[in-house]
Amino acid sequence: MFQTTVNNKVSFKGVGLHSGDDISVTISPAFPETGIMFRRSDVTGSEYTKASPHTVSSTQLATTINCGHEHIGTIEHLMAALYGLGIDNALVDVTGPEIPILDGSALPLVKLIDQAGVRQLNKKRKYLKFKKRIRLEKGDKWIELIPSRFFKVTFGISFDDNFVQEQKAFFNLSDNVFVDQIASARTFGFKKDVDALWNMGLARGGSLDNAVVIDNDEVMNPGGLRYENEFVRHKILDLVGDISLLGYRIYGHIRAFKSGHLLNNIFAKTLLESTNCYSIIELPDHPAAPNTILELKPQGIS
Ligand SMILES: [Zn+2]
Repeated sequence: MFQTTVNNKVSFKGVGLHSGDDISVTISPAFPETGIMFRRSDVTGSEYTKASPHTVSSTQLATTINCGHEHIGTIEHLMAALYGLGIDNALVDVTGPEIPILDGSALPLVKLIDQAGVRQLNKKRKYLKFKKRIRLEKGDKWIELIPSRFFKVTFGISFDDNFVQEQKAFFNLSDNVFVDQIASARTFGFKKDVDALWNMGLARGGSLDNAVVIDNDEVMNPGGLRYENEFVRHKILDLVGDISLLGYRIYGHIRAFKSGHLLNNIFAKTLLESTNCYSIIELPDHPAAPNTILELKPQGIS
């Protein structure tokens, strides 16, 4: 029920999926109410920018935020790892234009942040508790939130191929479920799409070490898949990362079909703006005590 931050500073480095650059990242403890803030430490005078649905500047291939006059891309796996481990506040320094892709999942990030430890802060956490259903549709894609006493996700994907085809999964993301069931699912793509990206000078850091690649109805990676439905699990990972930009813990069941970073981001903005559909609450000191949930007025929403 209290806000948290990382207990110790922790660093990692790796290649950027889209730039191909070698990039270092340092995650440091932060005060309560900071949120997750990013800074380009390779740029003189760069200041911390809070990750929020409104600071997102691009959703093409990854979620990118504006950071002063610069950008930081591929933040979604790190954001998901922080949310999944219950980290509310942190300062993230990045020496390049994106967060390194590592193995394409959030697992290395979860392990690293777990090593740093979680520090409880002397300030109550704020939760969004939804009272009404909110739904967005775009073509055949849709995403909706249904009120729930838990944070749950149901996700469906449908690809016009003979291998991935259709996958659907449901998780109640309470406790350690994100860490145990979602974090290790890797990003994925089809060989023909990867070739097209390379021809456009994109995905320069992409390899079988950091993405599942499908070609001729087979997985090209020598180790195969981590889960039979690794693809839909990764879509849930991305969704958790994108929705975590709200900056609050969430009580609600998100159901999505074929949603991606763009629709996730529009949905996150829509959720924040739907102030008649939710309350901002703090949990009581003694959870067993009835009727003591403190409702706060929506604040800091723009
Ligand atoms: Zn992803």
